[in-house]
Amino acid sequence: MKAVVFEKFGEAPTIQTVPDPKPAADGVVIKVEATGLCRSDWHGWMGHDDGITLPHVPGHELAGVVVAAGKQVSRWKAGDRVTVPFAVGCGRCFECTSGNHQVCEHQSQPGFTGWGSFAEYVGIEHADTNLVRLPEEMEFATAASLGCRFVTSFRAIVDQGRVTPGEWVAVHGCGGVGLSAIMIASAMGANVIAIDLTDEKLDFAKKIGAVATINASTTPSVVKAVKQITNGGAHMSMDALGHPTTSFNSIANLRRRGRHVQVGLMLGEHARPQVPMDKVIAFELEILGSHGMQAYRYAAMMDMIRTGKLKPELLVGKKISLEEAPAALMAMGGFEGIGIGVVTKFR
Ligand SMILES: [Zn+2]
Ligand SMILES: [Zn+2]
Repeated sequence: MKAVVFEKFGEAPTIQTVPDPKPAADGVVIKVEATGLCRSDWHGWMGHDDGITLPHVPGHELAGVVVAAGKQVSRWKAGDRVTVPFAVGCGRCFECTSGNHQVCEHQSQPGFTGWGSFAEYVGIEHADTNLVRLPEEMEFATAASLGCRFVTSFRAIVDQGRVTPGEWVAVHGCGGVGLSAIMIASAMGANVIAIDLTDEKLDFAKKIGAVATINASTTPSVVKAVKQITNGGAHMSMDALGHPTTSFNSIANLRRRGRHVQVGLMLGEHARPQVPMDKVIAFELEILGSHGMQAYRYAAMMDMIRTGKLKPELLVGKKISLEEAPAALMAMGGFEGIGIGVVTKFR
């Protein structure tokens, strides 16, 4: 099969012909029809993720068709249209059996712990626990765009953030994660404030549901601005970017008993940011993380997509071919545009 391969961290990936994957006893092989481009792929390529062994095939936001299933697989067969969460749970550890596959102790991640979906085919283990059936009408590109940023935002807003109608929600950063969160929180009935450095993204945020916007590049204090708009602070706030400043602001702009959810990745020198712990105590704030979403929780999200409350297709950006993927991947370290780029042409 054709695949995007890198042999050294930080060196240009190339298109290579490599052996086709074979299904594990409890796994499947999926013919990839769409795979999303993500900043995590860039981090992996740069060597910021210590789970990767070389040579490597990236790609973790995938949708496609099952072409082969191992002997132990009972729920899936060739021809099924599927997607999969980026954190693949083992189905047997304490976390998985208590329903928290997204933090499985033995999780595998396609494109990180093993070869991923920037290829014609990808192998996924523990298929019965992790595959998600796609609604008939859903395009593969849309399904792939859910894989990482959209599902993580769904869990962050609905399950971790526990957003209820009428609450104020602040979203710091309007990239793929932030825009997903704005759409989801608005659909849940919250009043959403979008915060970013560019008017272009803030305008788009308004189109998908934000009721107020703050341009952080021209606002002296984002925290003060949020408190003013919300008359005391947000009920729930999210750092969708992953930066010490946005993380700090997201906690500091909360009202009493507010919930901060950290979704933007904090790597390297950003891994241990400042936290206004005085406020955490005095206001009884909650600080939560969000890491993907369990396969079984997709059903609630798919229902909201089917009924038109969520329109993830609006967040799909450029569609490219596998040949264009290496250059696009290397560019992901730069400024993120509007929309999730998706590889849709493999052959
Ligand atoms: Zn597990
Ligand atoms: Zn991703």
